[in-house]
Amino acid sequence: AGDRGVYNFAAGPATLPESVILKAQSELYNYRGSGMSIMEMSHRGKEFDAVIKKAESDLRRLLSISDDFSVLFLQGGATTQFAAVPLNLCNPEDTADYIVTGSWSDKSFKEAQKFCKPNLAWSGKSDKYTNILPFDEIQQNPDAKYLHICSNETIHGVEFKNYPKPKNNSSILVADMSSNFCSKPVDVSKFGLIYAGAQKNVGPSGVTIAIIRRDLLGHAQPITPVMLDYKTHSDSASLYNTPPCFAIYICALVFEDLLDQGGLVAIAQNNAKKAGLLYEAIDGSGGFYVCPVEKSVRSFMNVPFTLQRSELEKKFIEEAAKERMVQLKGHRSVGGVRASIYNAMPLAGVEKLVSFMKDFQARHP
Ligand code: PLP
Repeated sequence: AGDRGVYNFAAGPATLPESVILKAQSELYNYRGSGMSIMEMSHRGKEFDAVIKKAESDLRRLLSISDDFSVLFLQGGATTQFAAVPLNLCNPEDTADYIVTGSWSDKSFKEAQKFCKPNLAWSGKSDKYTNILPFDEIQQNPDAKYLHICSNETIHGVEFKNYPKPKNNSSILVADMSSNFCSKPVDVSKFGLIYAGAQKNVGPSGVTIAIIRRDLLGHAQPITPVMLDYKTHSDSASLYNTPPCFAIYICALVFEDLLDQGGLVAIAQNNAKKAGLLYEAIDGSGGFYVCPVEKSVRSFMNVPFTLQRSELEKKFIEEAAKERMVQLKGHRSVGGVRASIYNAMPLAGVEKLVSFMKDFQARHP
């Protein structure tokens, strides 16, 4: 658990690699001999220019992003993208398909209703968001401009393990990848647009990353605010206005760290191992712990579960915190327990949680 002695299972902002925090700390006061903190320097100076360029090039390496795509560092969180997506990709009378697999895709679908005529291609609401329909049964609209998914539902713990294809050839796949961005390799070329708030796997809150196919730029609705038009940011290499410099700097350190660890193939293996351990502990508990999500779509990042004896949940969370495993409370909308096990959660953290779960169960026969 590092010197801080805690395993932090928060869903976001979330735990970051210890080495990244320590490096940032060592450079905080006087960034690489410049006499300034990264927080104090111009975003147009040579130091920050090198930071943002390295952040972009390392991210391109991690995800093998071709030059057909623009990589943008934006503000306003993923929530702002819920509006930017329809504003950039369709006109008010156009339609777009939304697959709703949990609270976040539901929010994006509702926001899109202000800017186009979105079609609810499928919703998992009646199953309490525990599943994803087989792709061939999803009711896609042949006129849709795009197909929108949330690749990992942070609250409900539902994750796409592969991706649906838009039905018509001119449509594109759009994904909110906020909570599984850089957790595994992704074939970016299958998407027209990927966006992700940084504050789970790759940095602090304050920066949102968008990866957009360049031919999709320049078609925003006329009412689109300049800050929500992807072309604005693509044309100015994310320096149209003052960017979230410190957040981008931390992302750059995280990307470098992910490359040093062997890239996303190695990261994905580690994540699969951690998630496997935790789901095994839940499923092997004889019903003491319950994860409602269908096995084939269980998230490797956010593991929500309940205790069959729900009166014990509060005690479970309090006792775990005493053992220095913190922020395990489920989202206020669904309750229960949620263990977020992003890239930076060490295997030892998950092993400790699993051993605590077994011990807690033994003490409550
Ligand atoms: N999408 C997903 C999948 C999320 O998990 C979150 C936040 O937790 C959001 C969107 C909203 O992100 P933000 O708070 O950056 O607007």
